[in-house]
Amino acid sequence: MSSVQLSGVHRSYGKTRVLEDVSFTAPEGQVVALLGPSGSGKSTILRLIAGLEPLDAGEVSIGGERVSAAGVNVPTEARRVGMVFQDYSLFPHLTAGANVAFGLDKLGRAERDDASLKWLDRVGLKHRAHAYPHELSGGEQQRVALARALAPSPRAILLDEPFSGLDAVLRAELRDTTLATLAEARTTTLFVTHDAEDALQAADRLVILKAGRVLQEAAPRDAYDRPASLDAAAALGPVNVHEGLVTDGVIATPFGPVSASSLLNGAKAIAAVRAEALTLTPGAGARVLAVRPHGAHDLVRFEAGGVTWRALVPARTALGDTVSVAIQPAGAFAFSA
Ligand code: ADP
Repeated sequence: MSSVQLSGVHRSYGKTRVLEDVSFTAPEGQVVALLGPSGSGKSTILRLIAGLEPLDAGEVSIGGERVSAAGVNVPTEARRVGMVFQDYSLFPHLTAGANVAFGLDKLGRAERDDASLKWLDRVGLKHRAHAYPHELSGGEQQRVALARALAPSPRAILLDEPFSGLDAVLRAELRDTTLATLAEARTTTLFVTHDAEDALQAADRLVILKAGRVLQEAAPRDAYDRPASLDAAAALGPVNVHEGLVTDGVIATPFGPVSASSLLNGAKAIAAVRAEALTLTPGAGARVLAVRPHGAHDLVRFEAGGVTWRALVPARTALGDTVSVAIQPAGAFAFSA
């Protein structure tokens, strides 16, 4: 295992800038989520690390060795990174066992078979060693792909949307088994996701991306509690926004003040309040417009003075037609406009 580092990476396709000055570090043995909407450049970053495409400027290092830079392009095989890409599916004509053994060509036959079974066992699929990919469920195929990627002891492992395309229960299960396997293997891991929940649940560190730029690189707790910008805050869940002037160190919103002590009085500013940082109690002040289930919560839309916000409150909280709203300061932020 090794750290993976990008510094000042640029990448364009023709005139389209896809990555702009991307820098971050995936520390040795940690799980790093690249989180961003579709088109933000996440898969391109993985392909650059894997050496599947060149960069235009900057550099990529694995374990302190420069593998991509001006005039440097270490071939994919020599980088020793494992990949679980959506389009990097299993070989259909090989059994699960043979798929996992595939990358172990330096070992003798018996050792290969042993190693293959050991890795299948780690992902809970030893009993399916003789099954062909089409005989396995989507989640099982992903687990075989993970075993195949880990078997040759790569320096780092790259996962592209590893948990997508599965239903919610399977998805959480696969996320947990994948993480347990990775933790046991202590392999540096980069995984791409557009799902904030997956990133927050699974990663030691987040790299939040938008339009080819890094918005924030931080531990999940820090990114959640201290977002670097409005976009970084919104990447981790629904936020309510209100623009106003800083007066006496706060921005007044229709639902209460938000502290803006780091901004100058009189400055134009944006208050951002996480939907889960709002408490609604029966009372007066705001009118409830809609209540919709949202996992273990209800998403409540409410309005006052023509401004509509959303709150995530524990499911089936009894609310009347009108509520009073309180803002929890820990989930409320101010950014200069
Ligand atoms: P993400 O993984 O975050 O969805 P990608 O890295 O796949 O983003 O793509 C980033 C941007 O680069 C997108 O706008 C996409 O259309 C563009 N792009 C990706 N690959 C190519 C390519 N081979 N040629 C041209 N444009 C591409």
